[in-house]
Amino acid sequence: MDRPRVVIVGAGFGGLRCARSLSGAPADVLLLDRNNYHLFAPLLYQVASSLLNPSDIAYPIRAVFRDGGNVRFRMAEATGADLDAGRVQLSDGSAVPYDYLVLAAGSETNFFGLQSVGRSAWGMKDLPEALALRNHVLRCFESAAREPSAHARAPWLTFVVAGGGPTGVEYAGALAELVRLVLGRDYPELSAGDVRILLVEGLDRLFPTFPPALGEKARARLESLGVAVRLRARVLDADADRVRLSDGEAVPARTLVWAAGVKAAGLAAALHAPRSRSGRIEVDEFLRVKGRERVYAIGDLASFQQDGREIPMIAAPAMQQARHAAGNIRASLEGRPPAPFHYKDRGMMATIGRNAAVAQIGRLSLAGFAGWIAWLFVHLYFLIGFRNRLVVLLGWAWNYLRHDRPIRLITRAGDRD
Ligand SMILES: Cc1cc2nc3c(=O)[nH]c(=O)nc-3n(C[C@H](O)[C@H](O)[C@H](O)COP(=O)(O)OP(=O)(O)OC[C@H]3O[C@@H](n4cnc5c(N)ncnc54)[C@H](O)[C@@H]3O)c2cc1C
Repeated sequence: MDRPRVVIVGAGFGGLRCARSLSGAPADVLLLDRNNYHLFAPLLYQVASSLLNPSDIAYPIRAVFRDGGNVRFRMAEATGADLDAGRVQLSDGSAVPYDYLVLAAGSETNFFGLQSVGRSAWGMKDLPEALALRNHVLRCFESAAREPSAHARAPWLTFVVAGGGPTGVEYAGALAELVRLVLGRDYPELSAGDVRILLVEGLDRLFPTFPPALGEKARARLESLGVAVRLRARVLDADADRVRLSDGEAVPARTLVWAAGVKAAGLAAALHAPRSRSGRIEVDEFLRVKGRERVYAIGDLASFQQDGREIPMIAAPAMQQARHAAGNIRASLEGRPPAPFHYKDRGMMATIGRNAAVAQIGRLSLAGFAGWIAWLFVHLYFLIGFRNRLVVLLGWAWNYLRHDRPIRLITRAGDRD
């Protein structure tokens, strides 16, 4: 008799963990992803700011499951699913049947309907975007160096970062260091003082999900790095050389980096499944898509309510849900009832340039060097692959000791167009 077939869509934090947790289960597991690598998104900003190489934070998925066993990988893009017939549709026109489906397709950038921003802004959601941003910023330095006047250089050297959450704060800090370490040394035509980095946040503080004191510390640290923090302001529109803000300022800038929001991946809208106001797929207490016994949704794609709120779109819930969904599938395979899921919030952390980070771990708030050390070890621990851990650690040590951004290469392969 054929073994039950589990199909997992997405090999990110949730999907990969789920597949690993189903290793050895009495079922054939097929893991699908449109990319052939698993991406460690929390370090994307270090690729975008010339500190790490793309291969340092990505890991080939087939290598994870090369030892045989019941998990197979296929590089394929899911375009939809017939949840009644039990089939996932793929972009090449074929379909994959399943007995159990786990939807783990993550999220995508949310421009909140701002079309001009969607056309002009630089995102940081995947490797090609991070590489394109790295190329663009380094090209801005080159273009500025060719300009004869400070007035003409200004738009090349003004960088607006939208979003005061961890991604925006981390990138703004890393960009300030890139400017200090690279522009100051490699470009005798330019001065670091010509550069303006503006971090724009619509709320009244940075890190809205952290305790207010940590947001304040992050702001002080960014300002000490030369980043101007503008609170209670939003980006309204943008074109190639100007960003207009809600407080009336039109900033002459050729770079707008968008870190102001994400929404559920496009796949969510292609399914006939109930969705929350945020567009995420609604799941029940067992992580099953509402009304479906054998279809699970986890991670950024899933809307799971706890204490009257949707749990956040970060890596920890995706991994916890992955293990839990795998456990419930195993239970079903063995004829046992599913168990309800409960998210254990273990905290958040973000780094702000060299030697400084903020972290909230349970009741413990860390900032500065202590926060940075905690951040460093947590990120190394969750990176996949010994080589990646070693290379990233060496990259950080090099940066720490040499004050260097070694990967300041403008490569055509990473271009946006
Ligand atoms: C720049 C950045 C920084 C971040 N920093 C942090 C941080 O510091 N801490 C933290 O906790 N979280 C952070 N996050 C959020 C964290 O990465 C996500 O919450 C987490 O990745 C969610 O896991 P997931 O499995 O739901 O989705 P993902 O890890 O995004 O995985 C989704 C996978 O699905 C694949 N996929 C999507 N659509 C399809 C399709 N149609 N067909 C096939 N495959 C598909 C994608 O290629 C991807 O591999 C960050 C995110 C970004 C972008």
